[in-house]
Amino acid sequence: MLQPSMERVAEQTAAYAKGGDLMQADGDSFDYVVVGSGAAGSVLCKRLTEDPATTVCVLECGPPDRHPFIHIPAGFIKMLFNPTYTWQFQTAPGDGIGGRRIPTTQGRTLGGSSSINGMVYNRGQREDFDNWAQRGNRGWGYVDILPYFKRGERRIGLADDRIHGREGALPVTDNDWIHPVNEAFINGAQELGMPRCDDYNSGDAQAGVGYFQRLINRGYRHSAARVFLHPARATGRLDVRTDARAARILFDGTRAIGVEYVDDRDRKTRRTVYARKEVIVSAGTANTAKLLQMSGVGPAWLSQQLGVPVVADLPVGENFRDHYSVRIVARVKNIRTMNEMSHGLSLAGQIARWMMGKPSILALTPSVVHWFWRTEDTMRQPDLQGVFSPASYKQGFVGLLDDYPGMTCGVWQHRPESTGYVRAVSTDPFEDPTIQPNYLTDPMDQRVLVKGMYLARNLLHTKALAPFFDRDELPARDVRTDDEWLDYARRVGSTAYHLIGTARMGPASDKTAVVDDQLRVHGLQGLRVVDASIMPNMPSANTYSSTMMIAEKASDMIRGRPPLEPVEGIAA
Ligand SMILES: Cc1cc2nc3c(=O)[nH]c(=O)nc-3n(C[C@H](O)[C@H](O)[C@H](O)COP(=O)(O)OP(=O)(O)OC[C@H]3O[C@@H](n4cnc5c(N)ncnc54)[C@H](O)[C@@H]3O)c2cc1C
Repeated sequence: MLQPSMERVAEQTAAYAKGGDLMQADGDSFDYVVVGSGAAGSVLCKRLTEDPATTVCVLECGPPDRHPFIHIPAGFIKMLFNPTYTWQFQTAPGDGIGGRRIPTTQGRTLGGSSSINGMVYNRGQREDFDNWAQRGNRGWGYVDILPYFKRGERRIGLADDRIHGREGALPVTDNDWIHPVNEAFINGAQELGMPRCDDYNSGDAQAGVGYFQRLINRGYRHSAARVFLHPARATGRLDVRTDARAARILFDGTRAIGVEYVDDRDRKTRRTVYARKEVIVSAGTANTAKLLQMSGVGPAWLSQQLGVPVVADLPVGENFRDHYSVRIVARVKNIRTMNEMSHGLSLAGQIARWMMGKPSILALTPSVVHWFWRTEDTMRQPDLQGVFSPASYKQGFVGLLDDYPGMTCGVWQHRPESTGYVRAVSTDPFEDPTIQPNYLTDPMDQRVLVKGMYLARNLLHTKALAPFFDRDELPARDVRTDDEWLDYARRVGSTAYHLIGTARMGPASDKTAVVDDQLRVHGLQGLRVVDASIMPNMPSANTYSSTMMIAEKASDMIRGRPPLEPVEGIAA
């Protein structure tokens, strides 16, 4: 095996300067090596290769994103179970959820989870990012990060241009599929006092009900790979290596100099790639923690347990958070729901509509309607997120639609206190890490979620929805008390797939921090982490857009550019 050394890097650099090409070879070198081509990795590839003198190699464990079900939004439901394109993680048994394990799928192809996710565009609240800044992270308050949300965005439709971008590459569109049950749900929520809220992404006025903004345009999913990574390839300065599973970060002392990776198909061939400037880990919250730990960057006790030399003793893998989501299902009458539209002739009709560019169930986000609300009247902003769709899954089988007409109202708590961890169990890159979210172990999370479930049921029992409401299916009507609701949540709740926090950003004085506010790993050189794992706390939203925002901001730091001007003067 090659011994990593600065001499070796210098040798490779010289070879490259003499006109070396970007063909894959063992031990070649680039300015930057990015591990993971997901939401963050794709944005980085685009921005870093905008500099004509810069070369980037991205290692992606999964295959290319050619499968048609990646690109047709409804293919989501199939891709979730496809082990070629997804990581089929299972959480460790949880005390707060009756010892259950929860399947925790993540994307494993170009675009990462953005190639299989729910395509909802949701940023969160001003307070989320102000909290990041208050934790000692300079330049991460709402006014600082807003320009980075805007830079990548191409908002199509009505919007406040102080808050939304028009010039970026990522199309953000409005729902175009109007179904009477969705409309009745929205009217019913207004009956209960929720205002109609079309731009929950304003940062300041999230409360209310309306349709989700989405990353679907002209019938197709717009993943981070489609929007950012593939165009960057055209520069000729980006080398995309698929089926390349990073196994270890290579160090020269405390400086990261490259990555050793294994061919994911034969599981044997090992190669190295060197970074002249930096190694950037963007492998997603679970795999980023695992890769760092396997490389000796993690708690010293864990490095010792894994049998790797301690490179940095840091709390990598701790502070894991996720949204724990519970579904409330009712049977529908007097109208067809997506459950029936997804079969036989009806489906053929929907396919025809999609092919003609008309609104169709093939081009929908799995959750069509949002609601954000507070569990206490005194709160300025909501502490709950809810979703609604005229569709329902069979009990215990996410992805398999019910045989009867159904509708689902889901709910989760914005900022869970329950904190878990991710830990590598060996240095075998093919072995899954332990993922222990500790869902529902914090009493505060239990209280908030119980209130959320009462509200979700009430939202299905409004006058406006009555013409379509047949009966409660899940849970049955006999679940009524707080204890019964909590028991229900423990039995049926699941991940919302918003894994964050295992390489927490914070100053060196923060004993829970792994990276500083420039996303450099504390105590090391040439190594940054740029993905959802750096989030210090959970945003009040799904996590895709904030991950892209992080990568946008990080790209300026890496390129040595000044940060974008803060956007001041937006009402708080
Ligand atoms: C099913 C699902 C639905 C979701 N729905 C939404 C939604 O509707 N809206 C929203 O805002 N958010 C949603 N999310 C969350 C959002 O997609 C993630 O927060 C976001 O993609 C995280 O980006 P990332 O760059 O951190 O990781 P990812 O996008 O997951 O990318 C990580 C990449 O690194 C690769 N990788 C991992 N390990 C290695 C290794 N050792 N070597 C090489 N490559 C490696 C992976 O294969 C992957 O391609 C959803 C997520 C899932 C899974």
